[in-house]
Formats: sequence, structure tokens, C-alpha cells
Amino acid sequence: MALTKQQILQWLENCNRTFNERRDYLTELDTAIGDGDHGLNMQRGFSKVMDKLPTIKDKDIGTILKNVGMTLLSQVGGASGPLYGTFFIKGAQSAVGKEEISFEELVQVLKDGVAGIVSRGHAELGDKTMCDVWLPVVNQLEQEDGNQPLDALLKSAVEKANISLQATIPLIAKKGRASYLAERSAGHQDPGATSTTYMLEALYNAVK
Ligand code: ADP
Ligand code: MG
Ligand code: MG
Repeated sequence: MALTKQQILQWLENCNRTFNERRDYLTELDTAIGDGDHGLNMQRGFSKVMDKLPTIKDKDIGTILKNVGMTLLSQVGGASGPLYGTFFIKGAQSAVGKEEISFEELVQVLKDGVAGIVSRGHAELGDKTMCDVWLPVVNQLEQEDGNQPLDALLKSAVEKANISLQATIPLIAKKGRASYLAERSAGHQDPGATSTTYMLEALYNAVK
């Protein structure tokens, strides 16, 4: 079962809605172990993406994703703007010219996107960053039997994301602002891992 361009556009709209709804919660999480701007960063970023969408929605999936990435990169400050920007720009590469993508192609998009985040931010599993959700989720997706329905595959990706998100709570941050707190970062859920989980939920909601 393929993911259509319409579903990709729905994904982006869902991201915008979710970051509007959960802006204050993300900000609360980032206030505890960062500088309190993550909710605003994500909400602003995706509202800029929404502004851009009318001019790019008729293009192919790769071009749409690349423009999303460039928008996030140029409009969102802090760590998360460049990291999510890179995610979409790198993820876009294998989807250039495509009006729909198979499950395997979606996994490639996510895999390339996450590789972009890692090459830019150098975070490893357990550093208490968004990579603590991305890496296990992409790993799981790569091992799935792609013949299952897409909604079921993405539902279990969201479940994996939520489990991985909870697992960030006891960790001591090794990257980003939270690492300045050292041991005091333990006991708090990572904001970026939370926004990544929301993006995966937004994707599932676009296909279910
Ligand atoms: P800033 O910390 O610059 O204010 P945000 O608050 O928007 O940026 O984003 C913070 C989130 O970015 C963190 O919760 C973490 O998940 C993520 N992050 C920070 N540094 C890195 C990194 N090097 N690699 C991956 N993710 C990172
Ligand atoms: Mg912040
Ligand atoms: Mg900041």
C-alpha cells in the first residue's frame, strides 16, 4: 500500500495542528531542561510551512519535503530548526519526482532524514535527544514486513516512539542545552524526542 502525496500534505497539516495544540506543553518540557522555546520553535516552523504549502503542493513529494526542510532551516532557530530542516531535506532526496511512495520508500525517506540529523548533531542513542526516538523507530520499521497495511505499520511505529520517548526520562543529556545540566537533566522527558513522537503520530493520523 502506497503513501500518496495527499497523505504527505495531510501529514504536514497534522504537524501544524499538533504543534499549535501542544506548544505550551513542549515549552514546559523545554523550560525544565532547556531555554523554554521548543514549543514556540515547532509551532512557528510549521506555521511557516503552512504559509509555503500553497506554492508547493502541486509539486512531487520530494520537492514538497525539500521545501519543508528549507523552510524549517531558515525560519526556526535553535538546535531543532536545523535538525528538523536537515531531516526533511535529506529525506526528500529519494522521493524526488514521486507522486506516491511505497512503504519501503517511506522507510528510506525516514532513514535518510535521520542519517541527516545524526550527521549534523552527532547524537548517539542514549544521549537524550530526538534521536532516542528516531533511531529505534527507523530500526523497527526496517525490520517490518512491508506487506502489512500501512496504518498497522505506522501504528506500531507510534507505539515504539512512545515507549522510546518514556525511556528518555531517566537519561542524562549528552547533547544540546540539556547537557549543560548534566545529572540534573535526569527525571525529565526530552522536548525534541517529544516533538518527534508527535510528528510520527501526525503521520499515522494521515494514513489511518
Ligand atoms: P534549543 O535547545 O537550541 O533551544 P530547541 O529547544 O528547539 O532548541 O530543541 C531542543 C531539542 O533539540 C532537544 O530536546 C533535543 O531533542 C534536540 N537536540 C539538541 N541537540 C541535539 C543534537 N545534537 N542532536 C539531536 N537532537 C538534538
Ligand atoms: Mg530550547
Ligand atoms: Mg533556544
